[in-house]
Amino acid sequence: MTQSATSAAQGCIFCAIAARQAEASVVYEDETVVAFMDLNPVAPGHLLVVPREHAVGLEDIDGATSAHVWSVGHDMARALRRSSMRCEGINVFLCDGEAAFQTVFHFHLHVIPRYAGDGWTIIPDPVERERRLLDSDAQAIKDAIASTGSLVTSAHAAVGPLSDRQRGSKTPSEVSASEG
Ligand code: 5GP
Ligand code: ZN
Repeated sequence: MTQSATSAAQGCIFCAIAARQAEASVVYEDETVVAFMDLNPVAPGHLLVVPREHAVGLEDIDGATSAHVWSVGHDMARALRRSSMRCEGINVFLCDGEAAFQTVFHFHLHVIPRYAGDGWTIIPDPVERERRLLDSDAQAIKDAIASTGSLVTSAHAAVGPLSDRQRGSKTPSEVSASEG
């Protein structure tokens, strides 16, 4: 755990908002999450989805709560698209840890409407990584998955890696049939 995580962390502004003890412009709430407007929006309409229960980052939140945060974030993105707010695109964004620009240490998902010329840029790193390095990166992550059974939910583990057919790829005979 990166910072202390309690059920209602002392001095946590997002705990206070979830408990309706601090001012916020709430868009949606249920028993697990609250969605409200960001005080310093990248663009008007920028909102945050937070779990009611205090959690700092991805290592601190249970899978079901996290899934609900992402699901409500998806719904908020759809609502933004259909709203009167200017919205030509959407970024869904999560900062986990100081190195990743987290400044409020209560788990939150940003849902940010975007439009041409809104002034927000993410500087890309255009350097392509060598395949052998990508393969060794993949192996390091696969090792972590294998050594920590609970990292991948039992539902995913039971299914295992997708086969080409499950992914929608054609078999070689289907490819030659459709080409021929
Ligand atoms: P982070 O960098 O941690 O991912 O983003 C924290 C976000 O919380 C920022 O976008 C910031 O504007 C927002 N924020 C910080 N304090 C408050 C607050 O008191 N109320 C609201 N609504 N948003 C806040
Ligand atoms: Zn909190």
